Amino acid sequence: MTERLSARVNSTETSPIRKLIDMVDRTPNVIGLHAGEPDFDTPIHIREAAKKALNEGYTHYTHTAGLPELREAIAEKLLKENNIKADSETEITVTVGGFAALFSTFQAVINPGDEVIVTEPTWPSYKGFTKLSGGILVPLQLKAPDYPLDVNSLTEKITEHTKMVVINNPNNPTGAVYSPKQLKDLASLAKKHDFLVLADEVYEKIVFDNTPHYSIASLAAMKEKAITVNSFSKTYAMTGWRVGYVVANKQITSGIRRIHSYIASCVSPAFQKAALAAITGPDDCVQRMVREYKERRDMTVEALNDIPFLQCIKPKGTFYLFPDVQGLGLLSANAAEQILKKAKVATIPGSAFGSSGEGHLRMAIAASKKDLLEAVKRIANFVKALPSR
Ligand code: PMP
Repeated sequence: MTERLSARVNSTETSPIRKLIDMVDRTPNVIGLHAGEPDFDTPIHIREAAKKALNEGYTHYTHTAGLPELREAIAEKLLKENNIKADSETEITVTVGGFAALFSTFQAVINPGDEVIVTEPTWPSYKGFTKLSGGILVPLQLKAPDYPLDVNSLTEKITEHTKMVVINNPNNPTGAVYSPKQLKDLASLAKKHDFLVLADEVYEKIVFDNTPHYSIASLAAMKEKAITVNSFSKTYAMTGWRVGYVVANKQITSGIRRIHSYIASCVSPAFQKAALAAITGPDDCVQRMVREYKERRDMTVEALNDIPFLQCIKPKGTFYLFPDVQGLGLLSANAAEQILKKAKVATIPGSAFGSSGEGHLRMAIAASKKDLLEAVKRIANFVKALPSR
């Protein structure tokens, strides 16, 4: 048969995380710690706002950029919480989740042959976004156990073709949260070498131990060069609602809006109203979820560290643990497969996040404490049954 798929499609593959989610969905009795999604229900006031909006007739297309009242609320939030000054008319776009914010951004700024430096271990979708835009992914391998943003190593990766550096702060899968010094150093390099910085901040609120989260776009020198992506998915347990946003200078925003109009025209207006209720409403629901993640993190890290051959640091942010499993003597893909088949616990192999993720597993703590303890018990039994090394 003639090849009917485009070369563009053939240059990418389905995300390994997506593949696993589909496989685990078909496997009974598995404790799923693989998916990056909060296990909480969307808070009631947000759901009610969507119902009200539907009843009030918010059922038509909106401006591609998003409802003005939502963009204004986002601008206020950015100023108050992130110290980012953004014009809601020309610099903020409401998108179909963080995914469409990222896809539109890559399509808007990357030309074939442009190099995109991405910190690694990394969420695998950046690879797909880069390839689909014709860009060349340049991994910047960061070091275990806490994976700080190493600006010296970054300098070595910069070439005349570097168009953009992608940081995910807080980081999926490592849980790293970058310090003001690391961000300032990155900003200096961006200025010196004239590249863009895309900061994916979808986990900004899920931080622990009083670790502050800083946005690189708040630095004066980054006003024209930073692109900030955020989403309602993780903060408000709204993954299925598909509402996110992207903040960039006027020129880049006009490109992003053009691309987003071809993807989706606009985000469902009732769900934009729900996002408005989320961003302007009480935030005790968010604090409650973050407190629960922290308790789960502390409990699960302690239990994992009681298993011989496993080591796990306490991540500063996100709802992921990234234990070091090199002591098992298995490649991470093999370890994840055996743990899935024999222990009935679904995790993601570290190698899915790039070669520097090898030797680790990603485990989401977006499950009840009972399930997390049971999962660790099953993994402990699996390790005990391994042939002696
Ligand atoms: N960025 C990161 C780092 C993520 O982990 C995810 C979801 N797993 C997203 C962006 C996109 O999420 P959404 O489209 O639901 O906002």
